[in-house]
Amino acid sequence: ARMPLVVGNWKMNFDHLEATYFVQKLAWLLRDAHFDYNRCEVALMPSFTSIRNVQVLVEADRLKIGYGAQSVSVTNQGAFTGDVSADMLAQLKCKYVIVGHSERRKYHPEDDANIVDQVRAVLTAGMQPILCVGESMEERRQGIELDFAVGQVHDVTRDLSDEEASKLIIAYEPVWAIGTGLVATPESAQDAAKAIRTDLYETFGAKVADVSRILYGGSVTSKNAVELISQPDVDGFLIGGASLDPEELSNICRLT
Ligand code: 13P
Repeated sequence: ARMPLVVGNWKMNFDHLEATYFVQKLAWLLRDAHFDYNRCEVALMPSFTSIRNVQVLVEADRLKIGYGAQSVSVTNQGAFTGDVSADMLAQLKCKYVIVGHSERRKYHPEDDANIVDQVRAVLTAGMQPILCVGESMEERRQGIELDFAVGQVHDVTRDLSDEEASKLIIAYEPVWAIGTGLVATPESAQDAAKAIRTDLYETFGAKVADVSRILYGGSVTSKNAVELISQPDVDGFLIGGASLDPEELSNICRLT
């Protein structure tokens, strides 16, 4: 069975002091609720400026909370002003890096080729990419949402080795569900996760398809988490808005 994973994508929220306070509060709430970290994994994705603070706190208090970054450079060092390399993130003991979030695809020139290179950079540095895919309302209206999301996965994964593919986490995040309060139905989250897993199966075989975690993202809250996680191919969540409230996030962790 796959270990569920709850990831808080803070996007561009919280400075390093707020991030430290949040982690303390979340850890306290989860401890108070006797949360079992061996049953469900929890990870936070702060801004670059907060990662070091999160690391120091996690190590000092021996918290079982993972963390990572929201994007990464495709090159490892040199004259790339403003970029942060995968090795720099790995040095901070980041476990995960979000790659290809729809906001990055929209506001930055992140195309499939760049996303493939980010995935490679993350894997080479020993971390796990969380690859985001998902259709916009336009594709959903046309009824091609499954082909679209599977195509996005396939374009990025087809050149990976089995070993690399087994480290990849995929987040199905329909663009129309992000920050809108319009959550996908459990059935359509399941359909997409299942279609993605079937593609992994066809490309890499059962071993990879069975271990790969496929998350759902888009207006997840403590109100809809239970129904979504009860779907057989939904292995956890990538959470935006609801991850900014420690109480709400701790509730989602408990319910997952
Ligand atoms: P919301 O949870 O705010 O809809 O954001 C989802 C998301 O984009 C997570 O990466």
